[in-house]
Amino acid sequence: MSQNNSILCTLDIKDDIIKIISVKDAKIKKRGIIKRIKIVNAKLSYTLHKCPQCGIISLVKNGKRITIARLASFNGVEYHLVIKKQRFLCRNCGSTCGAHSDLLIKNHTMTKQVKHRIFSMAKESFTLSSMAKVIGISASTVNRILYGNTKIPRRCSHLPENICFDEFGSVKNLFTFIAIDADTHRLVELIHDRLSRTIIEHFINQYSLSERQAVKTVSIDLNANYQLVVHRIFPNARIIVDRFHIVQLCSRAMDRVRINSLKKIHDKKSRIYKAMKSDWSLFHLPEEDVDATHVKYITGINEYTTIQNVIDIATDKIPVFKETYDTYQSIQEAIRYHDIDILRETTYRYKRNGTAMDTVITTLRKNINYVKNSCLLPYSNGPLEGTIGKINKLKRNSYGFRNLDHFIKRIRLICA
Ligand SMILES: [Zn+2]
Repeated sequence: MSQNNSILCTLDIKDDIIKIISVKDAKIKKRGIIKRIKIVNAKLSYTLHKCPQCGIISLVKNGKRITIARLASFNGVEYHLVIKKQRFLCRNCGSTCGAHSDLLIKNHTMTKQVKHRIFSMAKESFTLSSMAKVIGISASTVNRILYGNTKIPRRCSHLPENICFDEFGSVKNLFTFIAIDADTHRLVELIHDRLSRTIIEHFINQYSLSERQAVKTVSIDLNANYQLVVHRIFPNARIIVDRFHIVQLCSRAMDRVRINSLKKIHDKKSRIYKAMKSDWSLFHLPEEDVDATHVKYITGINEYTTIQNVIDIATDKIPVFKETYDTYQSIQEAIRYHDIDILRETTYRYKRNGTAMDTVITTLRKNINYVKNSCLLPYSNGPLEGTIGKINKLKRNSYGFRNLDHFIKRIRLICA
């Protein structure tokens, strides 16, 4: 590898028409602060015969022009590229043109390298100021590159067959509806309202009936009532209730029953109190992971015993908690092994006992067809939960967004 290629490789410049002359240390003064930078002197020259204006082979070399462009910073040091570009003159029509490299953007002092770095950092929920600091350019430049000249499309190019629906809190306590492709995780729609009417109107106005009929499944969670919306806009779609969400509902109900039972135990030093309070996580273990043979030290109750024993201490004495625990375990098993029979049996055999589990089972019974689909079909709301997690991270890092338009553009980048 020649010296030129080694330097190009270090600076991550892919275009080898650029010939590096030297790399030097220099100092610049910016807002009263002296900064140490590197200046990369280079030249860009090649032979060109055909005039781009008139198409006749009549070009001659016509001096050089110096341009300054910014490269991406490396180890926190800014790299300024001072490049001498060859100019050409046409003997036939008198027009002039210059040599061009893929690295440079016409009429811009930023190179493509910097632009790519900004977009890749924006995908990872970085804030404007942190991007500016890492890359070594001003926040207003980052702002211009990220938000300038990009238009938000009115609809996505085509509706995917499998979609996930959810919502998240965006600016000023408003809720935003979000839909992504369940297979590729690309953004489908972002609507600044979670009202069913707005969502229905948007989909009906933007997409034709045949497009909407092609949608096969929609994953939702039970908190947001999107069942009617889905039936209205996608006539052939099957609704899937998110598997994780079903287990989460049951697990929260069990925890509530556990806490209520704890309040009724007066002896705070008894085994049952310690087991139910400190060893709460053992009750969430799937039944098959509960060890009934190996004795080990259990911290909460401060004894050498088996996990099964700890669970038995609680379930033997409190029948309501036992019922809830068994229901939770059966539903967890049904979801884990995609077993519809266990699910159906558990929900229909359940007897109301005045606990939080009653509401959960009522909800599941009401939506039993959608819950069944979650056992049968491979899709879930997991990818969308991940996307919403990234959006919330961005919101937290930036301390909220004042400009809704900017927020939407950032979300589109995250889902790109
Ligand atoms: Zn010409």
